[in-house]
Amino acid sequence: MLRAGAVALANFVIGEPLTPEAQAETRRGIFDAHLHIPSDNGENFQWHLVTRNMPEFVAYLDKCGVRRGVISSSWSNKAQTPEDYRQGNREVAKYADRYKGRFRGSCVITPFRIDEALREIERCRKEYGFVWLGEFCNYMTGYKYDTPEWAEVMKLATKLNLVIQIHTNVREMQSLAEKFPDTSIVFPHLGGNRDDIFARIAIVAKHKNAHIDLSGSGIERVGILERAVKEIGADRVLYGSDFTINEPSAVIARVKNAFLTAEDREKILHRNVERLLARAG
Ligand SMILES: [Zn+2]
Repeated sequence: MLRAGAVALANFVIGEPLTPEAQAETRRGIFDAHLHIPSDNGENFQWHLVTRNMPEFVAYLDKCGVRRGVISSSWSNKAQTPEDYRQGNREVAKYADRYKGRFRGSCVITPFRIDEALREIERCRKEYGFVWLGEFCNYMTGYKYDTPEWAEVMKLATKLNLVIQIHTNVREMQSLAEKFPDTSIVFPHLGGNRDDIFARIAIVAKHKNAHIDLSGSGIERVGILERAVKEIGADRVLYGSDFTINEPSAVIARVKNAFLTAEDREKILHRNVERLLARAG
């Protein structure tokens, strides 16, 4: 509902603060769609270590007001062998279980030995209840998304109705969104420069299977979140931080201060990812 004096422009509401109820709801519920845990093997994406283990990781999220999230293992992202990503996914399962209700686990593989990779995705779904794949980062171990092997990963994600989160450049993003219209894809990051940001928003707007998470570059440019919501709609824009690399509370601050309706901010901060997870699997 509009407060007296608030100015409504289409679905933008300028000057409307969150109601006390919405503030309470948001504090209870902020859900981060993009978290990398510090691995038990010492692997950690943080450039200078300040949160070295799970208790420190969780304590920092508490400080930032992030109550829940999807977690994946950097051990899996950097895997040189299938055994590496299996170990990474096992530690995710362990922590998703230890922090039940707080974290949902995500499976990460590399597609080099594709049969083993597909088996691991199935096992993570069946044995650990993971309905999320990724974040996949092909640049870390040097694979491509335009190969028959990657198409197998996409097909299995579609068949099992999993959400798949893929770090891409604009060209890869365009191609995946077009080729796999029945797959729920989350593309992290708005983009590093103006052209990239506008192109990435346009691709997500056009493909109803696509979503964007707000982690990384782009969110710090005031107005870009509002543009994303205007072009895409509020239902396919997700809060994500990329912690342990990036600061979770910076993105939250931009969402809270944005010229959006209270309802849209709630969708971004937790409802959209809840809906994706509820529909998956
Ligand atoms: Zn990431």
